[in-house]
Amino acid sequence: MVKVERSFPAPESLAEEAKKSAGRYDKPDVIKRLKDDFHNKCYICEMKELQDPNVEHLLPHKNGKYPERKYDWENLFWSCSHCNGVKNNGKYDEGIIDCCIR
Ligand SMILES: [Zn+2]
Repeated sequence: MVKVERSFPAPESLAEEAKKSAGRYDKPDVIKRLKDDFHNKCYICEMKELQDPNVEHLLPHKNGKYPERKYDWENLFWSCSHCNGVKNNGKYDEGIIDCCIR
C-alpha cells in the first residue's frame, strides 16, 4: 500500500459546495490536489497515470450512508474507474484501509 501525505487545509471549493443542495465534490481545485497528493495513483490498486480518474469516497455518501462525509476532504480519494466501480457495489464499504492515516 502506498502511504499518502494528504495536504491541508482542504481545497476551498468543498466548504462552498457543501452549502448547496446539489454541490460538487470534484471541482478543479479538488481534482488537482488529489492528483498531486496521490501522485496520480489509484489508492486501491496503485495503477499509475490514471486516464479516467474518479474522486472516490472512502465512506460512501450514496444511498444516504454517510451523507455528512460527502464534502469531507479526508474522505476523498483518488481512484481508477475500475476500483471505484467495484467499490460502488457496496461490499467493501467499511473494509478499506485509509492510506492517509499516520
Ligand atoms: Zn484502481
